Amino acid sequence: MKRTLIQPAVSGVATDFISDACLADLLAAPPAEAARVRDVLDKSRAKQALCVEETATLLTVTDPRLIDEIFATARELKRDVYGYRIVLFAPLYIGNDCVNDCLYCGFRRSNVEAVRRTLDPNEIRRQVEALEDQGHKRLILVFGEHPAYDADFIAQTVRSVYAVKKGHGEIRRVNINAAPLDHDGFRTVKEAGIGTYQIFQETYHHDTYARVHPPRTRKADYLNRLDALSRAMEAGIDDVGLGALFGLYDWRFEVLGLVTHALFLQRHFGVGPHTISFPRLQPASGVHFHEQHLVSDEDFKRLIATLRLAVPYTGLILTARESADIRREVMEFGVSQIDAGSRIEIGGYTEVGDAQCMEREQFQLGDLRSLDEVMRELVVDGYIPSFCTACYRLGRTGEHFMEFAIPGFIKRFCTPNALTTLLEYLTDYASPATRAAGEKLIATELARLEDSRLKQELVARLQRIRESSDRDLYF
Ligand code: SAM
Ligand code: SF4
Repeated sequence: MKRTLIQPAVSGVATDFISDACLADLLAAPPAEAARVRDVLDKSRAKQALCVEETATLLTVTDPRLIDEIFATARELKRDVYGYRIVLFAPLYIGNDCVNDCLYCGFRRSNVEAVRRTLDPNEIRRQVEALEDQGHKRLILVFGEHPAYDADFIAQTVRSVYAVKKGHGEIRRVNINAAPLDHDGFRTVKEAGIGTYQIFQETYHHDTYARVHPPRTRKADYLNRLDALSRAMEAGIDDVGLGALFGLYDWRFEVLGLVTHALFLQRHFGVGPHTISFPRLQPASGVHFHEQHLVSDEDFKRLIATLRLAVPYTGLILTARESADIRREVMEFGVSQIDAGSRIEIGGYTEVGDAQCMEREQFQLGDLRSLDEVMRELVVDGYIPSFCTACYRLGRTGEHFMEFAIPGFIKRFCTPNALTTLLEYLTDYASPATRAAGEKLIATELARLEDSRLKQELVARLQRIRESSDRDLYF
């Protein structure tokens, strides 16, 4: 393991904690005995995080019966920890200028086909209003890496987004996916009130990282990127999001990289990542990338199930890069957040038609359904879509607060908040068919509530939402 300090803006714990050789050795080991695999599954069932070796034990299983047990346990754990709630959000691309040349990305600087643009404040307002008109309450703002998109610019953009209110519409949580900052930069964006700061390592495999991020670009510095979320945490950002771009290297290696990173943060900061993302490589403008490591649908399902089992309390994000069918199929193995109604062309929420415009977006999306269609499918399938933002707004974040550590927290807070925010959506934005299906789900969930005082309070709040303009009545 290399222990190289990195410059210029390192965290106090900056080390390269990824050893390619160690991870490769774990994956080269013969499949473990069935009893050992079942021990690991028992540990997950007991809601304990797995170590890297235990995660590798699950990844090297080849026996189809044991693979089925992995899926069944992931399904069970998802149900136990998260219930049927699925949190909804939408991406908002702010600008696609970029100094980097990542081989996989439509925004790469050498892509002459890309239409370059940065939204001005009026354009941002129009995009946010369009998102509020759909019913969204949670956004992730996405930026290329460019000197113009510095911490002050990101912070100002966040403030502008929070300031846009239309009818009952407002954005209650703004997350960020942007290039790594230094400590001061992370402090600046935290002061603007961001929720999660996401930075994907893309690939944890050093040689692959060097191949897809050309030298003499900012992003070529593997260690600086690996250290970025540690700096964010030192700067006081409690909720950070990890991710890997699946398809660049062996998916099993990337899962081990993500778990190693999650455990590193847990060890040094007392809290693991808030979320993990696992985008699969998609076609993109100007990108001619023949990859031998593209992940099949079956392996995709397996990687989600394995992550669920390895980090039981970390949210898993599945995006509209995937088709509607795949999203529906893999959701049950551990996904806790999805985006919906997404457009990722710059200005895409007001300016483009049904067809995607590849030159204006980073990559191609697989699921272009409206938020209303996705909401209807979710409630019909028995999921409880949630726009809840209560914890973050009440300071219930990071190490100071672990919703899972408090007995009954999900029943007492998360489910009621999911139902009030669902009803806000149904009342203010849903089509008649979605509203009818959603009301039925709310009635079923109310009937399931055992705590009569809580039920009474919840029924009263739901009534206020139906009969008045009172909103945002969180527990
Ligand atoms: N520019 C910032 C950075 O690189 O950190 C922000 C990230 S980028 C706008 C969002 C993420 O999209 C990247 O981190 C990458 O994982 C993902 N991405 C890039 N090209 C992709 C592609 N062709 N298919 C799927 N995801 C892609
Ligand atoms: Fe730029 Fe990010 Fe795309 Fe790389 S992934 S080219 S840094 S926008």
